[in-house]
Amino acid sequence: MIYGVASQDNTVMILYTLVFLFFAGCFVAPPTEFVSAGITVQNMFSRYLGSEDFNFIYYHQRRTTLTLLVHSLIPLAYYIGLELFAPELDLFNIDQLNIVWTVYLLISLILPGCVLVLAIYWHSKNCDNHPISKQLKLLAGENGTWRTVASSINLEFRRIDKFVSGIQSRLVAVTDSWIIKTSTYYVYIAHQNDIHLTLSDSEEHALSYQNQMAVQYLNITVGRIEPGLKPFTIRLNSLELGDLKEKLQAPIRNARNIVIHQSLSDRFLKAFREFVEENPVYIPSPNMEIEQCIGCMQKMADVKLQKHCEDPAGEPGSEVCVPCFCRPMWCMECMGKWFASRQDQQRPETWLSSKSPCPTCRARFCVLDVCKIQNSL
Ligand SMILES: [Zn+2]
Ligand SMILES: [Zn+2]
Ligand SMILES: [Zn+2]
Repeated sequence: MIYGVASQDNTVMILYTLVFLFFAGCFVAPPTEFVSAGITVQNMFSRYLGSEDFNFIYYHQRRTTLTLLVHSLIPLAYYIGLELFAPELDLFNIDQLNIVWTVYLLISLILPGCVLVLAIYWHSKNCDNHPISKQLKLLAGENGTWRTVASSINLEFRRIDKFVSGIQSRLVAVTDSWIIKTSTYYVYIAHQNDIHLTLSDSEEHALSYQNQMAVQYLNITVGRIEPGLKPFTIRLNSLELGDLKEKLQAPIRNARNIVIHQSLSDRFLKAFREFVEENPVYIPSPNMEIEQCIGCMQKMADVKLQKHCEDPAGEPGSEVCVPCFCRPMWCMECMGKWFASRQDQQRPETWLSSKSPCPTCRARFCVLDVCKIQNSL
């Protein structure tokens, strides 16, 4: 009879332990479902943490400390929960505890105590001792302070043109000068000028049987040249690589010749560019001033629409190509993206042989009519 009771206790305890471990695991390393349900430290304490967009560094200093503190309470939560589920263990009766539970209870009380002391130390003197501040101090160099670096990062993170990928607490962000990766207890930061980027690894996952496409994830190692700063790895979907590269200043070395699955638009742009390179060039008149591309505002306009194909000149608005008299206003990428956006998205194989209206005057053109502007230099 006594044996029967004991084994029933054990079953409850084992079941409780398994369920607890599952939820604790999901809480510490939340899968996407947990993040979207809002069961994360960030969401639970969002009022205390402030705004990530507005004050990035201070937000993450608080977030990492708080996460460590909350996670250090998990063993104690297990203990209290177990008493509620299996009261016959009598865990709250401290005099009756056996040696195993006494040691467990002591550790689960000492652990958050130590983390609390550490947290107070980190946040004393306005966070001077926080690990993120120490990293920023290394980035600031001899004469700078970590606060100047922090305000530069905060300022750039507020801009909308940054590259962002990933979910909360596993974010990769690239701003004009910084590469940032957040993790559960830390935030890695590197200055764009002081890094070596290497494509170190790739993984492929079959998505699902409805969608035959495989997703490819790329691991890019960010090596930092400042002494004392370890390299870190960012991981992203290969389809995001094009956007990432637009924001990066340094090239990504692909020493292992990993084959990258490009997005449809990247593949089209490559073909579009190869096609246009074959077309006759446009020689601008000497007094023509070439302006910035009005699509991206980053590159100079470098293509001009000049009717070269065999189509008989037709009426504007008809299906045949007509001459365009617009001055050069677009760069090759923006023109290619515009061209692709005007095509039947379900039939990419038809794109190169199709037509598009000029983004400015709506005159129809084909790939044969896109001419590179001859460089005057
Ligand atoms: Zn452009
Ligand atoms: Zn035009
Ligand atoms: Zn044409």
